[in-house]
Amino acid sequence: MGMSSAEVPQLRVGGLVPLTTIDYPGELAAVVFCQGCAWRCRYCHNSALMDPKADTAIAWAEIINFLERRRGLLDAVVFSGGEPTLQSALPDAMREVRAFGFKVGLHTAGPYPRRLATLLPLLDWVALDIKALPQGYPEVTGVAGSGEGPWRSLRLIQDAGVPLEVRTTLMPNWTPKDLETLAAALARARVRRYAIQACRIQHALDPDLPRPTLQIQELAAFISALPFNDLIVRDD
Ligand code: SF4
Repeated sequence: MGMSSAEVPQLRVGGLVPLTTIDYPGELAAVVFCQGCAWRCRYCHNSALMDPKADTAIAWAEIINFLERRRGLLDAVVFSGGEPTLQSALPDAMREVRAFGFKVGLHTAGPYPRRLATLLPLLDWVALDIKALPQGYPEVTGVAGSGEGPWRSLRLIQDAGVPLEVRTTLMPNWTPKDLETLAAALARARVRRYAIQACRIQHALDPDLPRPTLQIQELAAFISALPFNDLIVRDD
């Protein structure tokens, strides 16, 4: 028996930022925070968005109404999270947004490469978290085997030619060598736009995260010679 349209699952949204200039490079964007994530990153500061079963904070229909009124005023809509690709309603939501003429951006940790592959034709820009080398993921996410998907997602996005920013939030106990090893692997994988982000321990899921031993600017100096076109340091 097929589902009636009223039963088609709608995107579950935990929050909306109506206007930002910093979440999609060079564009005025709205950010839709999708509910749910299967990982438990020690530094996650969006823990309210983790529960995939939480009530939706804003009905998708409301988001659509809002976006319809912003046609011509906004350039892009970014789907962030949580982990947007967890939700099967995401492709339809993206199609609706594209039909309004907005560019579509995605912030993802890349855990589901096969789902991501089906989204790529709908995407104008992706920010992909690469949290560690594949073997280093469980230490960050708390989930065994979580490192394979993101690195496969990286190759898929690159092969599709979708504009990409790779991002790493720095674990506070990382040494310059840890960062250098990861960044060198990304440079070898032909990542060209790379952003490192300071870990905000005061909002982190794990209350026992240590204070960072080095300032992010000091760490950035260790990777400044790598062949990135853009190396972005986010210290907020
Ligand atoms: S993948 Fe992102 S949303 Fe999920 S736990 Fe990690 S930091 Fe939080």
